Amino acid sequence: MNDVLYFNGRFTTTAERVLGVEDRGFQFGDALYEVFKFSAGKAIFLGDHFRRLERGLHAIEIKSPWDESRFFAVMRELIERTAFDDGIVYIQISRGEGERKHFFPENLEPTVVAYSRAFQFPDAAKKENGIRLITAPDLRWKHCDIKSVNLLANALSKKKAQRAGADEVLLLDDDIVREGASSNFFVVRGSEVITHPLDEHILAGVVRGRVIGLAEGAGIRIDQRPIAVDELIKIDEAFITSTTMGVMPVASIDGRTISSGIGAVTARLQHLLDAAEIADAAVTHASSSI
Ligand code: PLP
Repeated sequence: MNDVLYFNGRFTTTAERVLGVEDRGFQFGDALYEVFKFSAGKAIFLGDHFRRLERGLHAIEIKSPWDESRFFAVMRELIERTAFDDGIVYIQISRGEGERKHFFPENLEPTVVAYSRAFQFPDAAKKENGIRLITAPDLRWKHCDIKSVNLLANALSKKKAQRAGADEVLLLDDDIVREGASSNFFVVRGSEVITHPLDEHILAGVVRGRVIGLAEGAGIRIDQRPIAVDELIKIDEAFITSTTMGVMPVASIDGRTISSGIGAVTARLQHLLDAAEIADAAVTHASSSI
């Protein structure tokens, strides 16, 4: 069964080859992407993903192909056309297709691609037992706040993690812990939760933002400040956040056990996020009938 593909205003399937060889996303990585989750046929935190995409397009001067209501309508139709109920949608917007040159023309029509894909979200055991991390130097470009498709450094670091028997890699800039190669990173020390502040060194994760809001609503203090590498030996719990992993406990870093089983603060935040996803799916569905 082919996944449903939206391409420049029409629906097809991923069996169709749609991209031109001179698309700037393909040749220059001149493109942004988003990944959102849908569950029981309903998109989750869709407005957050739309806003991040708009911010990124603006930052790199790519014309936005839609307003919020059109975006919602297209994504809803994409999910409705999809045969399965749980999965992710990958969206990519490139500057467009044109003769290969570094000086890009101002008037290119963006290439818009979005497709659905079935996804196995972590089960209860994984959410309880957590994942293993390794650390590695952060070799990415200097605008990690822009969700660009230039993921070579991320992919090479993740491969390193996989070869070391780990699931994710924590990216270090000298002695500062930035984030995971495809996730944000939090530590818990006593009653305090710490995560890197929003700046050009990390991506403003949708789940990161939601978790901070939920924590504050529940009276859990979150300190947004850089975490030094040597602080990692003094923590009680750690977790990562992402669209596909939710709130995922960290069992070990570089082979050193952080906690066996999920810690109390991580468990509370995981529970709050799971509930927020269900609540948001209902809202998104109701308001997307535009
Ligand atoms: N940081 C990086 C580098 C990522 O690639 C991702 C997700 O792909 C995240 C953080 C988490 O972002 P989100 O919560 O929006 O999925």
